[in-house]
Amino acid sequence: MGVQVRSFKELDIADYDAIVVGSGFAGAVVARELAERAGMRVVVIEKREHIGGNMYDEYDEAGILVHRYGPHIFHTNDRRAFDYIKRFTAWRTYEHEVLADWYGTYLPVPFNKNSMEIAFGEEKAQHLTDKLIETFGDERKVTINELRAQADPELSEIADFIYKNVFLYYTQKQWGLTPEEVDPSVTARVPVFVSRDNRYFQDAYQGMPQDGYTALFESMLDHELIDICLSTEAESIFDLEFESNEEDAPLTAICIKDVEFTGPIVYTGPLDELFLSRFGRLPYRSLDFAYETHDAEHVLPCGTVNFTVTEDYTRITEFKYLTGQEHPKTTIMKEYSHPYDDPKTQIPYYAIINDENNAHYERYLKLTSGLCNFHPLGRLAEYRYYNMDVIIGRALALADELVAAE
Ligand code: FAD
Ligand code: UDP
Repeated sequence: MGVQVRSFKELDIADYDAIVVGSGFAGAVVARELAERAGMRVVVIEKREHIGGNMYDEYDEAGILVHRYGPHIFHTNDRRAFDYIKRFTAWRTYEHEVLADWYGTYLPVPFNKNSMEIAFGEEKAQHLTDKLIETFGDERKVTINELRAQADPELSEIADFIYKNVFLYYTQKQWGLTPEEVDPSVTARVPVFVSRDNRYFQDAYQGMPQDGYTALFESMLDHELIDICLSTEAESIFDLEFESNEEDAPLTAICIKDVEFTGPIVYTGPLDELFLSRFGRLPYRSLDFAYETHDAEHVLPCGTVNFTVTEDYTRITEFKYLTGQEHPKTTIMKEYSHPYDDPKTQIPYYAIINDENNAHYERYLKLTSGLCNFHPLGRLAEYRYYNMDVIIGRALALADELVAAE
C-alpha cells in the first residue's frame, strides 16, 4: 500500500481518533500501535518534508546511503524494543567501533586496555592496567569522573591523561562547556573500560536496518488507519486554550479547525516551541554536517573517528561501515556543534541538561499537566538525552496505556 500522505487542508479532523505530532521513533511507534492494536484512525503531523525524524537516511548524489541528521547506530538491552523494530525490516548485525585521533595516532574509544598500551607503551600500560583492575575489577566500566576522584597518584596520572586527551577538547567543542560543567550523565555515556573490548557499545542487541532507517519508517507507517501530513507544523494547526490569560495558566483544550480535539494527542516536538517560547527558549545544541565523497572504497579505519585533541569538528563518520553498503566510492561526514539559536534554520539536537534548564522545561511541562489527552513524548518533548531504544520503549509503554484506555 505505502505510506498515505495527505494534505492537512483537505482532511476532516473528525475522521481521526488520535493525533501524533512528529514521525521519529516516538511518533511512529505510537501511531502504529494505536492503529494496529486499538483500530484507531491516526493522523501524523510532521513539520519536515519527510518521515523518520532524526533517523532519516537517503542516497546521496554518488549513490551512498547517508544519514542526514547525525549517524545512528541501534543498540539496546531492551529485548522488546529490539523485537519490535525487527518486525518492520530485515536486520544487519553491526557493532560500532570508534577511534580517537590523538595527534595522528588512533586510540580505541571508550579508552580501554588497548588504548592504554598505545598511549603508555606495553610495560607501563600493564602496570597501570593492574592498578585499575585492583581498584575497580577487570572488565569494569568506570566513568571519567570516578577515575578523577581517585587519590592514588598513578590512577590520577591515567585520569589526567584520559581527561586531557579524550574528554576535554571534544566536550568543549560539543557542548561549549568543560567536562566538569556538563551533567555527569553526559560523559558517563562513554566510560573508561577495563577491557580489551574495542566496541563502542556492549549492549546485547546491536545492528542496523538492512535497507536503512527510512525504509524501516515507511514500513512502520504503512497502515490503512494512518495518514501523514508532511511540511505541517503543529503550532500552525493547533489553537491552544488556557484557563486564563495568566502566563502560567494551564492548557485546557487543543482545538483544530475550530473544534476541540478530545482524542489522544501525542506530541514529540519541543515543548517550548508549542507555547511559542512564552518563558524563553529552552537551550539546545545544534549541529552542522559537512559531507565529502571520495573516490576510494574506504577512507577511515572504522565507522567513526573522534577528534579529541585537534580540529574544530568533533567526529567523522564513514557511512559504509554502518550500512554495509558496497560501492567503489565512499561518503564521510564531519560534525560541527554550535548553540541552537534560530528555530527557523537550525535543528535542536541535544538538550543541555542541568538544574536550571530542567526547571525551565518543567515550567512548560506544567502548562500541559491538566490536559489529560495531551502526551508529551520523546527526546524533544521530554527534554532528555535519550537513545533510540529508550524512545521505542517509552513509546510502547505509552501506547500500552492508551490502548488499554481505549
Ligand atoms: P526525533 O527523531 O527528533 O523526531 C521528532 C520529529 O518531530 C521530527 O521529525 C520533527 O521534524 C518533528 N517535529 C518537531 N516539532 C514539530 C512540530 N512542532 N510540528 C510537527 N512536527 C514536529 N540514538 C541511538 O540510539 N543511537 C545513535 O547512534 C544515535 N545517534 C545520534 C546522533 C545524533 C547527532 C543525535 C542528535 C541523536 C542520536 N541518537 C542516537 C538519538 C536519536 O536521534 C533519538 O533517540 C531519536 O531521534 C528520538 O526520537 P524522537 O521521535 O523522540 O525524536
Ligand atoms: N565524549 C568525549 N570524547 C569522546 C567521546 C565522548 O569527550 O571521544 C564525551 C562528550 O562530552 C560527548 C559525551 O561524551 O558529548 C557523550 O558521547 P556520545 O558518543 O555518547 O555522544 P553522541 O553520540 O550522543 O553525540
